[in-house]
Amino acid sequence: MKDRKNYIGGKFLPAVNGGLLDVVAPATEKVYARIPDSDDQDIALAVKAAEEAFPSWSGLSAEQRADHLRKVADSIESCLDELAELESIDTGKPVSLAKRVDIPRASANFRFFASAAEQFSSEAHIGSAMLNYTHRHPLGVVGCISPWNLPLYLLTWKIAPALAAGNTVVAKPSEVTPLTAARLGEICRDAGLPDGVLNIVHGRGTKAGQALVTNATVKAISFTGGTATGRAIATLAAPMFKKLSLELGGKNPSLVFADANFDEAVETSVRAAFTNQGEICLCGSRIFVQGDIYDEFKKAFVNKVKVLKVGNPSEKDTDIGALVSEEHRQKVMNYVDLAINEGGRILTGGKVPDQLARGYFYEPTVIEGLDAFCRTNTEEIFGPVVTIQPFFDEDEAVRYANTTEYGLSATVWTRDLDRAHRVSSRIKSGIVWINCWMMRDLRTPFGGVKNSGVGREGGWEAMRFFTEPQNVCIKRN
Ligand code: NDP
Repeated sequence: MKDRKNYIGGKFLPAVNGGLLDVVAPATEKVYARIPDSDDQDIALAVKAAEEAFPSWSGLSAEQRADHLRKVADSIESCLDELAELESIDTGKPVSLAKRVDIPRASANFRFFASAAEQFSSEAHIGSAMLNYTHRHPLGVVGCISPWNLPLYLLTWKIAPALAAGNTVVAKPSEVTPLTAARLGEICRDAGLPDGVLNIVHGRGTKAGQALVTNATVKAISFTGGTATGRAIATLAAPMFKKLSLELGGKNPSLVFADANFDEAVETSVRAAFTNQGEICLCGSRIFVQGDIYDEFKKAFVNKVKVLKVGNPSEKDTDIGALVSEEHRQKVMNYVDLAINEGGRILTGGKVPDQLARGYFYEPTVIEGLDAFCRTNTEEIFGPVVTIQPFFDEDEAVRYANTTEYGLSATVWTRDLDRAHRVSSRIKSGIVWINCWMMRDLRTPFGGVKNSGVGREGGWEAMRFFTEPQNVCIKRN
């Protein structure tokens, strides 16, 4: 068992306090690695290294920074198999999924923001009396904190724009899934990223994470994780006037109108509910189907869910791997019990698979018969559990869609273009997909409203978040 280390100032270091945390493989329940149980001392070292690296990194031309980022992207690509394997061990997700989605997206993040660095430009406001231009300066040292569900994908989604904009970074990956982040440190060193530009500190959120949030030198925090954690971070960071980007939970509706392309709606709704064991903030976990086609849709949907293969994440035909931890599986099981207490009927799933004695597996579960406003339908479960219920008309569908405290994403299935525009503008969420799910163009603003977050990632939004605008005003004669 190889102990992982922090990556600080180009060196691989244990925690100053010597502490270690076990990391468990969810598909086997075995401890397979240990990581530093870092605290404020390690964060202070990392921040110092990032601070020292900042003048030369921010002084590089955009093209030079872009070259560095592209080298990192190339190295991630060349380690595809290894990184996919590590991601699967850490999270329990199918290796095939990590190979198809997580790791390619991590390299795409670096490649995309390499181009963004080169193309980012200032605005000018030309008037008869004066000329104004906006100079966007990097912030300095910034903190990136990421969750366990898409570990490398989400970590690089923050690191890449931060570096592209000329900042130096201290990153704190989830303690539950640290392996690919640890490997990223090695990849960056080998790809020639200058020492101290990226620093990775492992450990607990309440210790290392909090120390990063409250470190006075750190100018901005980009956080993805749960809503409660986001609130705790905002409480600490706001009085310090740090810039904050918070990407939080979701409870996303899929609205299926009777005129939808039926087969596509069924197929994609299954994917939207259960990809990555339902552990994606964008998963469609509440399906509302227009009454006319409800029974037909339900039957077709459940039939497709019944044939999903749950099991060994290394097998090519596995659709659903293990949930990330015993604790998380227990949370999911508690929600299924709650659903039954709230009057729900389980159409399929609802238990640990009989054949899988080891590992934190859970069957994909479909529940009907619930009120749209009950707890099961309004709280985030973040697992392989979806509810399905009928709606009568457009107004009712929109009311159901908007009924939670979350507002991250929604999907609308209809062939009626007018309705698509009308309904999407009435849904309170940061993203609305029409006749699709999780199609991502990295230039688009990504993020949620209500308790799903503050701020947007992606494209220029990210470049703007990681820079401070300065207005320069020149008097014209
Ligand atoms: P958490 O909020 O528990 O943790 C996220 C990260 O924050 C982890 O690195 C965690 O460390 C760290 N952390 C925890 N407490 C603190 C603290 N007080 N100060 C600083 N950092 C802290 O989320 P999960 O990892 O459980 O991820 C699941 C959640 O993430 C779900 O709610 C999901 O919806 C949301 N999510 C949102 C996305 C979006 O884009 N909107 C995308 C993906 C997920 P540690 O691991 O050590 O606890």
